[in-house]
Amino acid sequence: MADDTAHLDGNCLAGPLSEILAVEATTAWWRCPECARSGPLAELHVFGPDPGLTARCPGCAYVALRLVREGEYVWLTLGSGTGAFRFRAVTS
Ligand SMILES: [Zn+2]
Repeated sequence: MADDTAHLDGNCLAGPLSEILAVEATTAWWRCPECARSGPLAELHVFGPDPGLTARCPGCAYVALRLVREGEYVWLTLGSGTGAFRFRAVTS
């Protein structure tokens, strides 16, 4: 079991995440864990819009990310779906 006294709360992520989430996302660099192809996010092949947007590697179709809009929220799944983050949309 993890030592509960050896962690910080999630508020400490606000600064570091603001550095990466406040940029033009399509200029982010992406590397495929399956085929090792790399390039800007803008080169991914995107399918959708329903039930959400799915971005796949142009080399091997590995799912790079999924983005689903649910009312005022946006769910973001990165990679193979080991977790997801929900953000309040700027415009709803
Ligand atoms: Zn790939």
